[in-house]
Amino acid sequence: MAYVVTVPDQPALPVEGSGDLFPVHRIYCVGRNYAAHAIEMGHDPDREPPFFFQKNPDNLLVGAPFPYPPASQDVHFELEMIVALSSGGTDIPVEKALDCVYGYGVGLDMTRRDLQGEAKKMGRPWEIGKAFEHSAPATPLKPASVIGHPASGRVQLTVNGEIRQDGDLDQMIWKVPEMISYLSGLFTLCPGDLIFSGTPAGVGALSKGDVLKGIVEGVGELETTVV
Ligand code: MN
Repeated sequence: MAYVVTVPDQPALPVEGSGDLFPVHRIYCVGRNYAAHAIEMGHDPDREPPFFFQKNPDNLLVGAPFPYPPASQDVHFELEMIVALSSGGTDIPVEKALDCVYGYGVGLDMTRRDLQGEAKKMGRPWEIGKAFEHSAPATPLKPASVIGHPASGRVQLTVNGEIRQDGDLDQMIWKVPEMISYLSGLFTLCPGDLIFSGTPAGVGALSKGDVLKGIVEGVGELETTVV
C-alpha cells in the first residue's frame, strides 16, 4: 500500500548540544496560568481548574524570524516554558508526573489577539487566534537529565531591549506535575507531546522589525525578529 499524497514531514525540536531530534506529537497550551496575566486579561485569578487549547505541531518555528501572520492587526507575544514529554498515559498521579518529562524549552505562544477576542465574544473555538502558521517559536530542548526540573526562575521577555514580561516560574497557578496529571485525565498523553505552560503578565502587541528576546532562567533563551 502506498500513501496517496506526499507524507507530511514529522515536526521536531532539536535537542540542545546534540544532533538529536525530539519528534513532536501534540502541542497542548495552558491558559491563564499566572495570576497577574489572568487579571490583565480581565479574569479572576482564583484557582479554577486549568484549561487547555492546542496548537498544531507544524506551527513550531525554530531558529528563524517570525513572519507577521495574515488577517490580524494585533498579534501578541506570550513567553512560556515548554515541557516535553518522553512518556504519557492516562490518569497520571501528580507524584508520578515528572517521570514523564523528557526536558524543557522556551517558547512563544503567538496569538492573533483580535481574532481570539472575536472568537471569545461569539463562543467560538480559538484556533484562528492561536494555531496559525509559525505561531509557536521555540528553542531546542534541554533534557531534564541535564537541567533537572525547574520550578522557579525568571521568565523575562524584552522587545527591542525593553522589558515587557517579567515573571517567575514559581508564580504558576498550576505547577508542571499538576498540569500533566490534569491533562492526562482528559487526553491520552504520549511521548512527543509538548505543553506550553502559560505566560506571565505583560503580554502585548508586536510590529514588524521588533526583536524579541525571551529567557526562562535555567532553561534557555529564545530570540526572534518579526518580519
Ligand atoms: Mn499562552
